[in-house]
Amino acid sequence: MDLRDTPGEAAFRSELRAWLEQILPGRLQAQRGGAGRFQEAGREWSRKLYEAGYVGLTWPREYGGGGAPYSHQAIVLEELARADAPQHLGVIGLGMAGPTIMAHGTEEQKARYLPKILSAEEIWCQGFSEPGAGSDLASVRTLAELDGDRFRVSGQKVWSSFAHLADWCILLARSDPESQRHAGLTYLIVDMRAPGVEVRPLRQITGEAEFNEIFFTDVEVPRENLLGDIGGGWAVAMTTLLHERGTLGFALTGALDVAVRRLTSLVREREVDDPRILDCLAREWIELQALKYTNLRALTTLVETGIPGPEGSVSKLRWSEANQRLTKLALEILGDEANIVDGDGYWQHQQLRSRGNTIEAGTSEVLRNIIAERVLGLPRSR
Ligand SMILES: Cc1cc2nc3c(=O)[nH]c(=O)nc-3n(C[C@H](O)[C@H](O)[C@H](O)COP(=O)(O)OP(=O)(O)OC[C@H]3O[C@@H](n4cnc5c(N)ncnc54)[C@H](O)[C@@H]3O)c2cc1C
Repeated sequence: MDLRDTPGEAAFRSELRAWLEQILPGRLQAQRGGAGRFQEAGREWSRKLYEAGYVGLTWPREYGGGGAPYSHQAIVLEELARADAPQHLGVIGLGMAGPTIMAHGTEEQKARYLPKILSAEEIWCQGFSEPGAGSDLASVRTLAELDGDRFRVSGQKVWSSFAHLADWCILLARSDPESQRHAGLTYLIVDMRAPGVEVRPLRQITGEAEFNEIFFTDVEVPRENLLGDIGGGWAVAMTTLLHERGTLGFALTGALDVAVRRLTSLVREREVDDPRILDCLAREWIELQALKYTNLRALTTLVETGIPGPEGSVSKLRWSEANQRLTKLALEILGDEANIVDGDGYWQHQQLRSRGNTIEAGTSEVLRNIIAERVLGLPRSR
């Protein structure tokens, strides 16, 4: 199998690389990290990406997408990471809400929501986790009871990334208060500015507040904001989660590639000759190469079926653990200096932020269960 770019892909890659070199403002490039810190710059950058045609490449043209093959999307993710470019502000809209609306939405919903996700005119958040429902998502207790032509939503969500910026929320709630587990769940699109929605930011270990609690108090949601069937929310939520992990691999591996290159430079600059550190660095480089091939396997499934396969869980698991090891190694190299933030504090920030990597988008334990059961076909753990 030839894993190199086809002539068409190579031309697309070099065009994108040239565009990035020309357009990426130093100001934005230097500003990594939480979208919240750079909201306005983030919107401006997202719009530029969209106007140049690099957002929603695989989405249908009728909704503002590019109608391009998945390989082009993978190239965009790789090249953005390679250029250390900021991400599109609409991470949840592009990666989760959009694909879910395409799979389960009505024509009206597709026309209403998809174009504004691409242009970053509207930002989305994901209201799945609750204080009593994380890995065990089927324990969701937020209520969404149908009352005539609208739902009345009450309850609490937590850890909702981007909720402080969001216009819309994809919400998983219980429409039948008597129901248990997977039955009786309904998936809604909720206006974050509706009366009764209150967002309270949560401060992370990095000092930033990128995620939030959301409180819903008797919030009215029109029936036309239902995605899928009443009581059929679990199947819709599974589409969201498959896309969350399935399309993330290339972006994550691209970011890891940048981190490995930076770490290699740090080792050179500091003239590190400790064989243990050099051995660890070599291992991380090898892990990175393995991840790149795993992503190509996941891409093959996506190209063949149009749906991300469970292999996406492998990339997410290995990337998150590699990122934690790698950033810790950098702090070890910095030694005592790691206690003082001098300059942009890149490695300190990366190490603190990486703690959440093994929790967000599925904890490592949960991902290992998925890999065991759905990739390897082993018996269910419970
Ligand atoms: C940075 C960040 C961003 C996030 N963004 C969002 C967001 O935008 N929207 C959203 O809805 N949620 C978001 N989350 C929440 C995230 O999805 C949950 O934290 C995650 O699903 C784990 O749930 P929990 O925190 O309730 O932990 P729990 O599910 O209570 O898990 C506690 C521990 O038990 C282990 N465990 C649980 N079940 C099993 C099992 N079956 N087998 C083995 N071990 C198990 C877990 O691995 C973990 O170590 C975010 C989290 C983080 C850290």
